[in-house]
Amino acid sequence: MLKVLNFLSPIRRLGNRKYSLFFPLILTTLAYVSLELFAAIVLSDRNALGSSIILLSFILIVYTACRDGRRGGFIATGVTIAYYVYLMYARGYVGDRLNTAVEATAYLGILYLLCAFIIGWLKEKIDYLLGREADEKKRLQTILQQLPAGVIITDREGVILESNAAVQTLLGISLPIGAQLVQSNQRVVLSPEYEVLAESTLPILEAIVTGKKLSQEEFVIENEGAQVRYIHAHISSIQNGADEPIATATILTDITQQKELEQLKDEFIGIASHELKTPLTSIKGYTQILERIIEEMGSDKARLYLRRTNRYIDKLTSLIGDLLDVSKIQAGKLEFTSETYNFDTMIQEAIDSFAHLAKKYTIIKRGDSIPAIVGDSSRTEQVINNFLSNAIKYSPDADTIIVTVERKRKMAVVSVQDFGIGISPEKKEHIFKRFYRINQESKKFSGLGIGLYISSEIVERQGGKIWVDSSKGVGSTFYFSLPLVASITDVLEGGA
Ligand code: ADP
Repeated sequence: MLKVLNFLSPIRRLGNRKYSLFFPLILTTLAYVSLELFAAIVLSDRNALGSSIILLSFILIVYTACRDGRRGGFIATGVTIAYYVYLMYARGYVGDRLNTAVEATAYLGILYLLCAFIIGWLKEKIDYLLGREADEKKRLQTILQQLPAGVIITDREGVILESNAAVQTLLGISLPIGAQLVQSNQRVVLSPEYEVLAESTLPILEAIVTGKKLSQEEFVIENEGAQVRYIHAHISSIQNGADEPIATATILTDITQQKELEQLKDEFIGIASHELKTPLTSIKGYTQILERIIEEMGSDKARLYLRRTNRYIDKLTSLIGDLLDVSKIQAGKLEFTSETYNFDTMIQEAIDSFAHLAKKYTIIKRGDSIPAIVGDSSRTEQVINNFLSNAIKYSPDADTIIVTVERKRKMAVVSVQDFGIGISPEKKEHIFKRFYRINQESKKFSGLGIGLYISSEIVERQGGKIWVDSSKGVGSTFYFSLPLVASITDVLEGGA
C-alpha cells in the first residue's frame, strides 16, 4: 500500500529526480479511453460529459507535471490534444463548429502547455534543491562518521540530530539519531528507552541538555570493562541568521595519549628534581665548611668566588624546588601548613631580601598594615618572591617597584607593580598555566614558566585569587588576595 502511495503521490516523490515518460502517457491514455467508455456505456450519451472534459484534462496535466516534471506535463498535454482531435473527428464536426472547436483546442493547448511548463519547472527546481540538500547531508554524514573526534549535534530540545561512531567509542554509549536527551529526576536519560547513561558522561550530557557552560572541559570516562579515557569536550551553540540558538554542537576529543605522556613527563620531572636535590644539599653543606676555612685563610678573592658559588647554588635550589612543587601539584600532593603569622613582617622580609639582591631597584611599600593572618607563611612568601623576581626580571629599563597591601572586605590584597615590558591582553589569560612563557620575551629572559602556575595554586588553595593588570610596554601589576580570617585578626589587634 505504502509502495503504491509512494509511486503515485507527487508529494512523496518530492526530491526524487527520476521522471517517467511512460506513466503520464499510459495514465492519460487510460483516463480518456475510460472516459469515452463511461460516457458511451454508463451515461449512454457520448456528448454527456461536455465541458467537464476540460477540467479533467487540466487536472491530469497538473498531476503529471507535479509527478514527472515538465516532460510529464508535455506528454499529458500531447495526449489531451490528440484526444480532442479524435473527439472532433468522431463526433463529425464540420463547418463553423469545426472551426470553433479547432480554435478552442489551440487556445487550450497553449494554456495546457504553459501550465505543464510552469508546474513542471517548479517541481524540477524543488527536486533539485531537495536533492542538493540530501547530497549535502550525506556528504556531511560521511565526513562525520570518519572523524576521529566524537560529534553530537542536538536541537534545543535535546533531540539528537547527528552523532557519529566516535561518540560510541569515546563515551561508551550510542546516541541514535532522533533519540532525545532529557533530564529526569536530576539525571540525564535517553528517551524513549530511558536508558540510564554512565555516571562519568553526565556532566557533558547535562551541559548539552541545559545549555549551561561546561565548568571544566576535561573528563575521565570510565566504562565497565573498557579502558579509562581522558576526553576533552567542547560545546558550542549553533545560531540561525537572526542569532537565535537552534542547535548545540559538541566535539569530543580523545586526549588519553596526551594525558599519559603528561603523566610520564610529570613523573620524570618529579624523579629528576628529587635526584638533583640530594647532591645539591650536600654541595651547599660543603660550601658552608669551605666558607669557614676561607674565613680562617682570610682570602678576599676566594670569599668572593664562594659568595658567587653560593648564589648560583641558591638559584639552582630554587629552580629544583619549583620543579618539585609542579610535580607535587600535579600529583595533588602539595602540602600546606596553617599558622597565624605576621603578614607585614613576612612582606617586609621578602622586600628586604630583593632590595639586597637587586640594588638598582627601589622597592616602595605602601598601604595598610596587616599584623596577623592565618595560612602557610612560607608558601605565601613564595608567591611574593615570584611576583618580585618577575617584576625585576621583566623591567630591565625601570628602577621602581611598588608593593601595595590593602584590606578589602575580608581579604588581604597584595599587588606588585612594575614599569617594565608589560603583557599583551591576549596573553594574560595564559600566563598562569604550567610551562607557559610569552614567546617573544622568553628568549631574552631566563625562566621555566612555572612560577605563576605555582603561585596561583598556592593562592587558590588558601582560598584566595590571583590576577594581573597589564599594558604592553607600560608595565604590569600582579595581584593576589587571601582571606583575613577576621576573628583571629580582631583578637590579635584588640590585644595589641
Ligand atoms: P618565568 O618568569 O620563569 O618564565 P612565570 O610563571 O613566573 O615564569 O611567568 C610566566 C610568563 O609570564 C613569563 O614567561 C613572562 O612572559 C610573563 N610575565 C610574568 N611576570 C611578568 C611581568 N612582571 N612583566 C611581564 N611579563 C611577565
